[in-house]
Amino acid sequence: MNVIYVDNNATTRVAPEVFDEMIPYFSEFYGNPSSMHTFGGNVGRKIREAREKVATILGAAPEEIVFTSCGTESDSTAIRAAVLSNPDKKHIITTRVEHPAVKNLGEYFSKNGFRVTFVPVDRKGRLDIDYLYENLTDDTAIVSIMWANNESGTIFPIEELSKTVKERGIVFHTDAVQAIGKIPIDVSKTGVDMLSLSGHKLHGPKGIGVLYIRKGTKFSPYIIGGHQESGRRGGTENVASIIGIGKACELAMEHLGKENTRVKKLRDKLETEILKRIPNTIINGDPENRLPNTTSIAFEYVEGESILLMMDEFGICASSGSACTSGSLEPSHVLRAMGVPFTAAHGSIRFSLSIYNTEEEIDFIIEKLPPIIERLREMSPFWDDKVIGNR
Ligand code: PLP
Repeated sequence: MNVIYVDNNATTRVAPEVFDEMIPYFSEFYGNPSSMHTFGGNVGRKIREAREKVATILGAAPEEIVFTSCGTESDSTAIRAAVLSNPDKKHIITTRVEHPAVKNLGEYFSKNGFRVTFVPVDRKGRLDIDYLYENLTDDTAIVSIMWANNESGTIFPIEELSKTVKERGIVFHTDAVQAIGKIPIDVSKTGVDMLSLSGHKLHGPKGIGVLYIRKGTKFSPYIIGGHQESGRRGGTENVASIIGIGKACELAMEHLGKENTRVKKLRDKLETEILKRIPNTIINGDPENRLPNTTSIAFEYVEGESILLMMDEFGICASSGSACTSGSLEPSHVLRAMGVPFTAAHGSIRFSLSIYNTEEEIDFIIEKLPPIIERLREMSPFWDDKVIGNR
């Protein structure tokens, strides 16, 4: 059975070009980049090249790029660094819809002597910007707001938000893990002080992340050890993965325009046809300001997990809420924060496409999904099409 993978916000396939660049650095060029000999030095040169590629996609300088082990480590490092570098400040601002990498850290700080403000969102997942600005105080150590949401795909106005926050002299961090490679990002046009990336969301390997740290930002390392990453993150470099994320950023730059327009067309076709063919379906997210690859669709009066299982029989891989929450039957914190009604949140499915999806795959999903939903609704005690009907 063919796999039809539309779960790219959970993780992506490593691009063959990325894989090919990584392989020699396991077996052939295995030197330590810190070594004095040429064998190790050549590896160091390759890491410098990767750092330049990552810097280019962000509009940053290479020395502002720090390699970490994942997006979660980058988020943790940024928030902890701001807190440690501003010991007199005891207030953190973030949002109600962050990935657990930020949300759970915020909750941790709220139990450990900090006041944490979680900014709400509306039904389309758009941030309450007035609420954010009203809550900025001289005690605020950091504002951490994701660039785009992993579940709804809603994009936040980071350029504007970061500039306003920075004018108040407050550190601004953004989790851009889902935004990179999908929409253009140029940190030089923003007030962003720190930004997180993850390799496995843009056709790079798992286990590699990036933290951008603007020159001049007060910083304190999270992992203290050797001199690697100019003393900002100890530990021998994950050489092959660093080379991999460098190549992935280079490819993402190439795909940003043409291929992403194609991905958006496929996403729009999938969404339009589903809404047309299946009654009682609702889009979760902001149609005007959304990642081009993502659609989160609520199928009212059905269990999301049952839809996933039945699609799985046809090899269709999607997600109910985020991958991190799909182990439990609780509607995700993102959909709850958006005020999605219980009957809709429970039946929400996220489809997230990539450059590797084809029109045939999208047509296959459009063909298979309506009978799946119909069957499940026939079994649902809450579904009575005479009462609800099409709307
Ligand atoms: N931030 C966002 C928005 C994400 O979607 C994810 C992963 O799903 C992460 C952070 C965590 O990244 P990683 O898996 O590299 O730790």
